[in-house]
Amino acid sequence: MSATDAVTDALGELHRRFAGVREGRPADYIPRLAQADPDAFGLALVSMDGHRYSTGDADVAFSLQSVSKPFVYALALSLLGLDEVGRWVNAEPSGEAFNAISLEPRTGRPANAMVNAGAIVTTALIPGIPGASAFDRILGCLGRFAGRDLDVDEEVYASEATSGDRNRALAYLIRSAGPLPFDPVAAVETYFRQCAVRATAVDLATMAATLAHGGVNPVTGEAVVTPAVAAQVLAVMATCGMYNSSGDWLLRVGLPAKSGVSGGLIAAGPARFGLAAYSPPLDSTGTSVRGHAALVELSLRFGLHLMNNPALPGSTVTLATTADDLPTAPAGRRERALRERVGVVAAQGALDFTAAERVLFALDDSGPERTGSVVLDLREVTGIDSVALAMLHAGLARLASDGRRAAVVDPDGRLGPPGLTRERTGQDLPRFASREEAVERCAHALAEDD
Ligand code: GLU
Repeated sequence: MSATDAVTDALGELHRRFAGVREGRPADYIPRLAQADPDAFGLALVSMDGHRYSTGDADVAFSLQSVSKPFVYALALSLLGLDEVGRWVNAEPSGEAFNAISLEPRTGRPANAMVNAGAIVTTALIPGIPGASAFDRILGCLGRFAGRDLDVDEEVYASEATSGDRNRALAYLIRSAGPLPFDPVAAVETYFRQCAVRATAVDLATMAATLAHGGVNPVTGEAVVTPAVAAQVLAVMATCGMYNSSGDWLLRVGLPAKSGVSGGLIAAGPARFGLAAYSPPLDSTGTSVRGHAALVELSLRFGLHLMNNPALPGSTVTLATTADDLPTAPAGRRERALRERVGVVAAQGALDFTAAERVLFALDDSGPERTGSVVLDLREVTGIDSVALAMLHAGLARLASDGRRAAVVDPDGRLGPPGLTRERTGQDLPRFASREEAVERCAHALAEDD
């Protein structure tokens, strides 16, 4: 994108504001990571339409480290399902550091898939298949999330392989504490390689955006995981993704997120965007200091907190009245009297559960007489999800059983094919291209009934 658009400007401003922060130090328990440039700082955002925005060092590749964990968890959930994965890895925030010995006392099950213990088990659950090792499948999956083939930073891998005794110890401990039959050596090797996969902040933002977009990569259009799996992963990121600062992060920033010790940090705004930051100096919880600061500020400035969704009254139902009040109503007394018995409800935008409730409430409220008719105008509706569609069908069926006739202005066929709507609503549900035609027909039918 050009440097003059509003999103790039906002990222650029955050970059300028936090680039001078000097707190934190790059991780050094993996020696190669200590050589990272402490000044490197990149920010990226990918929208649900696949628009990519970035600033600073957003094209510098670095190892994913723990940012890989949610995506491998997604792969495990896709291959095995939540129940099977949940047998071996719980989904409880541990409140502990990333490398804690966080195993359930009775079962030996790791607390969640975001801490190392749970991530090693998650990796161990990925089965190899003929022609593709477990790692091949992980690398392929990470690449589909990023929208391009990724590779391994062999130096980082070698560095962790020579220094990763704590993770090896964890793997042996897990095997000794629980019933999971796995090879600790192979699992940890695969886990180290997955942590050493290289990607840029733009890649990471695309990966986060894929989770936010119901599992469909918004840049490539590929369905990487199902919407259900994407939601499950985001839920675990929200409660466990920031280790022992997960609660504080959800409180202040309000977005599912995952940090990694190389300085990568992702956050996802469900159905809105994927965000990523890269800056190696870390705070005491293993989170990028500048990345943390930039995302806190971004969330505050743009009101991105998940729990902060002020209802917008009137944004779904744009009209709830009776047809005699329409500007098109003729002057004649008899016509006006008939039109008083025709309710008119117009809706706009994308209809989900919340919006459908508003439409149904307006429909119930719209007719002064239970014997009247109602016109539902859907011309400004841009989409109806399956839950809202079922609710609308049920609502129209209830109207029919109350003896109220309905007509819809639905030139785009949003309510589904006529056969289906007849079956679901118990009425013929005539469709019209204009509101006036629908009103006239209802008024006419009422006149015939009288
Ligand atoms: N490879 C790192 C480890 O297991 C990942 C930890 C992290 O990024 O938080 O220690």
